[in-house]
Amino acid sequence: MEPQLRDDVRRALRDHVLADRRLGLTALPVRLPAAGGAPAPAPAPAKFDPVQAMKAEAFEQRRVRLEVIDRDEVTPCVKCGLSETRTKTVFGVGSPGAKILFVGEAPGHDEDMQGEPFVGRAGRLLTDMIQKGMGLRREDVYICNILKCRPPNNRDPASDEISCCRDYLFRQIEIIRPEVIVALGSPASKMLLDTREGIGRLRGTFHDFYPSGTSLVGDPIPLMPTYHPAYLLRSPGEKNKAWADLKMVMARLGIPLPARG
Ligand code: URA
Repeated sequence: MEPQLRDDVRRALRDHVLADRRLGLTALPVRLPAAGGAPAPAPAPAKFDPVQAMKAEAFEQRRVRLEVIDRDEVTPCVKCGLSETRTKTVFGVGSPGAKILFVGEAPGHDEDMQGEPFVGRAGRLLTDMIQKGMGLRREDVYICNILKCRPPNNRDPASDEISCCRDYLFRQIEIIRPEVIVALGSPASKMLLDTREGIGRLRGTFHDFYPSGTSLVGDPIPLMPTYHPAYLLRSPGEKNKAWADLKMVMARLGIPLPARG
C-alpha cells in the first residue's frame, strides 16, 4: 500500500474510533470491586492497532457484502425453474476471510430443508475431511455450491441453471478472495475450469482458475479438483486419492498435518 494511502487509512480509522468513543459507542471497561470493597484498578486502555483494525474492517465488509447478496438477490431469486421446487436457497457458509473455498455441486434434500450446504451424509464426510483430516474448523473455511437451489430428485445441474447461478458464485469468490479453491466433483471442476475433462483426469494437480467477469486482477487462483464426498461414500477405496489432494492443498498453504492421536 502507498505510504500516503496507508497514513490516510490509519487517520480515518483512528478518527472513526475516536468518534465512536465520543458518542459512547465503544464498550467502556467495567471496574469490578476487589474483594476488600475497593474498586479494582482501571485496566490499561487497549493500544490501538491500525493493522488489526484494518483487517477487522475488511473482514466485516466482506461479511456484509456476502449477506446482502444472499438476502437481496439469492433468497428471492427466480432466474430459473429451480425456484419453483426449492424449499430454501443455500447460499454458503463459513468465514468471509477463508483461505480455502470448497465448491460443491448443488444442495441435496437436507441442505434444501436447512438452507446450509453440506449438512447431510456427504456433508458430514466433508466436515470430517476438513476437521479430522486437515485439522481445521468448518467455520474457518468457506463452503458453497455452483447451484444455490436443489435440482428435483438430485438430478445433475442443467447448463441453463449453471449459467443463471454463475454470477452469484463468482461474486462470492471475488469477495472472499480465497488462496485456494477446492472443487468437489466433476460438475464443479468442469464449470470452474471451463473444461469437458472428467474429474479422474483433473484431480491430483493444481489448475489455474481465472476469475473472468470479476474485478479480481493479477495471478489466477490455484484450484484443486478432487472427488465429491458423495462419490467417496459410494467408493471408499478412492478416499486415499482425495486425501492426497487435500494434503497438496495443505502443503501449498503451509498448514501442518495434524498430530494423529
Ligand atoms: N452435495 C453438494 O454438492 N452440495 C451440498 O451442499 C450437499 C451435497
